[in-house]
Amino acid sequence: MHRQSCDASARGPAHLLLGTTHVNQQRPRLVRSFIGDTERVTASSRLVIVANRLPVKQVEGDDGEHWETSPGGLVAALKPAMADAGEVAWLGWTGGLDQVEEPFDHDGMHLVPVPLSPVERDLHYEGMANGTLWPLYHDKVQPAEFHRHWYDGYRRVNQRFADEAANVAGSGATVWVHDYQLQLVPGMLRQARPDLKIGFFLHIPFPPPELFHQLPWRNALTNGLLGADLVGFQTSNGADNFHRLAIGLGLATRETKRALIVDGRRVRLKGFPIGIDNARYNAASSDPEVVTAAQDLRARLGQPHKVLLGVDRLDYTKGIDVRLTAFKELLAEERINPSQVSMIQVAEPSRDGVDAYVTLRENVERLVGQINGDYGRVGFPVVHYIHQSRSFEELMAMYRAADVMLVTPFRDGMNLVAKEYVATRYDETGALVLSEFAGAAAQLKDALLVNPHDIDGLKAAIVEAVEMEPDEARRRMRSMRRVVRRNDAIDWATNFLAELSSS
Ligand code: UDP
Repeated sequence: MHRQSCDASARGPAHLLLGTTHVNQQRPRLVRSFIGDTERVTASSRLVIVANRLPVKQVEGDDGEHWETSPGGLVAALKPAMADAGEVAWLGWTGGLDQVEEPFDHDGMHLVPVPLSPVERDLHYEGMANGTLWPLYHDKVQPAEFHRHWYDGYRRVNQRFADEAANVAGSGATVWVHDYQLQLVPGMLRQARPDLKIGFFLHIPFPPPELFHQLPWRNALTNGLLGADLVGFQTSNGADNFHRLAIGLGLATRETKRALIVDGRRVRLKGFPIGIDNARYNAASSDPEVVTAAQDLRARLGQPHKVLLGVDRLDYTKGIDVRLTAFKELLAEERINPSQVSMIQVAEPSRDGVDAYVTLRENVERLVGQINGDYGRVGFPVVHYIHQSRSFEELMAMYRAADVMLVTPFRDGMNLVAKEYVATRYDETGALVLSEFAGAAAQLKDALLVNPHDIDGLKAAIVEAVEMEPDEARRRMRSMRRVVRRNDAIDWATNFLAELSSS
């Protein structure tokens, strides 16, 4: 794949429709519409995705830099809805700083890079998004900071995304805005373009109003979301929280349990639990290379009786420290035998310029050191700690090698890792220990559900998982696999767009 960013001639005919028309001109209506279960794509369909990041990354090849589609995630979910190349525009940041790129076509998508300066990255992304909203929305596991200059940067960057979307969207188009970095965009876009159908999906939890009320910009953010026709959350609990909030602030009135009225306009709220690309995980899990890699991994661990696994970004919401503490106590109490059980903890580096993440890393690494110091043998540490990002193939081997998957966040929008593990257990083996505060817990009811604040309860669940009878594991896994299969990423995107189209 070659970079096409500045080469207008490389764009397909759809670009001529998407990139060169102006808001006030009469153009064909370009909306993908759904009627019941049947998708009807008219010749003039149009969809604009607005997300913090573009679904591509720049990689260095033999012939210079080029763009590659980032695997998995949103793009996989949206691919079927973007089947006709060029009908879909995607707006987002490339991840580079002061990088002004022309829109370009890639992999069937029309990509519109939104530039950020270093200061904007600091204020909008690292400040307001990750320093204020991330902790606040995750139940303040860490204190949220409130800074007016962060909010000013956030507003400016949101305005830029809204302006770009207003320029790109055709008359009556559908615009789907994503996540906590862009919560002002729906309101800004509605002001500029009342003709659009606007959807918003929040990938992280939406907090109870009692917490949200602390936000100095609570009205602005709430009004931002109320600019949408449909606001989607990971769980119905998020929708309930927002419903209560908007009414409590006097910014909307109640129509039904799932709908609000704002200036005579209906805003619908609903939980859309996000899924994974189940087919990809399921197929890869029985790939002979993955099977061999999983066997190699177990051999390198010394063929332990049981392998425990954690895979997380190194984030304070994930409960990595509490999981290690539980494991350490179980070893100390001799309820787990270190010569029979090995644990792998992948802690993908994340936001490592932020103090709270540095402190977390120190705590996690201290615990790993203590466990290995107290219970390891030469050549056989009990915890194998990897502070590196692992590839899809490496994770597949780990999921397949693991008898017990530990997912213990204090709060998590969904937690895809839990679903990925389930999707790889084609032989219906393995046990999942899952925090009841992960969005996934609302669906994976046959996991061993735990309260991560209750260390004794967590320890009991780990022991239960390690000792689980094969029949019991099979019953639970079969049921969880059905849930993951029937609610995959494509269903999620299709359901959201169908609901938006009918709102
Ligand atoms: N992941 C990865 N490499 C790693 C660790 C994680 O590719 O080293 C992937 C993982 O497979 C999953 C995603 O990152 O798809 C994490 O999603 P999740 O919802 O569990 O947590 P988030 O990081 O979005 O909070």
